[in-house]
Formats: sequence, C-alpha cells, structure tokens
Amino acid sequence: MSGSMSCSPASHATMTLSRRMPSAVRPSRDLFKPGGRSELMARISGKGNKSTELVLATELMKRKITGWRRHVDLPGRPDFTFQREKLCIFVHGCFWHGCPRCYRAPSTNVLFWKKKVIGNQRRDRRVSKALRRSGYMVVTIWECQLRGASRPRALRRIPSALGRRSRMVALGPNSSR
Ligand SMILES: [Zn+2]
Repeated sequence: MSGSMSCSPASHATMTLSRRMPSAVRPSRDLFKPGGRSELMARISGKGNKSTELVLATELMKRKITGWRRHVDLPGRPDFTFQREKLCIFVHGCFWHGCPRCYRAPSTNVLFWKKKVIGNQRRDRRVSKALRRSGYMVVTIWECQLRGASRPRALRRIPSALGRRSRMVALGPNSSR
C-alpha cells in the first residue's frame, strides 16, 4: 500500500455509490419495514455525517466551548479543529467508518460495502497519522457515542483533551506531556 492520498479507487466507489444510493435512502416510509430498518437507518444517519456533526456543534455551543472551526484545510478536513490547541475532532458515522461497537455488514452487495468501509478505515488511519505528524492530537467520536446515555461521556473527552493540549501549548513545543 502506498502512502499517497490518491483517490481514484475511492472516487470510483463514490460514483458507484451515488448510483446505488437513491433507492437505498429514498426517504419513503414504505421502506421502513421490519428487518430492513436498522440497516437502512445506519446508512442514512451516517451519510455525510451532517446530522451527527450538527449534534456536536450544538453541544459545543451549549457548553460554551469555543475556538473551533469546521472543515479546516488540513489532512482529512477534520470535522472540528481547535487551532490554538492543535486538536482535531472527527465524528465518524458508524456505518461508513466501520464502528468497532456497532457496525454490521449489509447483507446485500457484501463485497462492495466491505471494500468501501475498509477503504474509509485506511484513509482514516492515513489522515490521523498525517495530522499527528504535524503536531495535532486526533480525537474520534463515533456517531453511536453521541446517542443517548453515552453522549455526556463522549463529550467530556473534548474539554479534557483541550485542557491537556492547552497545558502542552503553554509549556512549549518540546514538551511531550
Ligand atoms: Zn457505533
């Protein structure tokens, strides 16, 4: 595997995906039949991560956590970047990024989805590595961790990471704490 960020297989997958997605995500209630619902919901809620990102943005504002920007021009265009503390936060859709806790492979187009998810995971690792090499800390929050009772715990990771990073910034670049 080369370390390049070449994306021709990915863009091919995306094209294939956009051709396939309409029937899978058509927002018709008729599709929400027992059995198909959870798989369908997983695909929809993970699509583009918009709703999950919005949940996090709202929570940050509610908690008066400031100093972040979305989709800064860094490797992987992190969902949230705290530039001063050099902290990047990714909010991963459980379906698209293959959540270790709740990912279940779809029962159709098995190979297609497997390749897609593995490709995303590889890219995630490359992006994290590139960011860390540039001195950023990377925090990943899964979509499912922002749901229900897990949310407060997931959110506490942000001020705690910010605290650590602020101390590091204050101590200077040679500190590794
Ligand atoms: Zn999950």
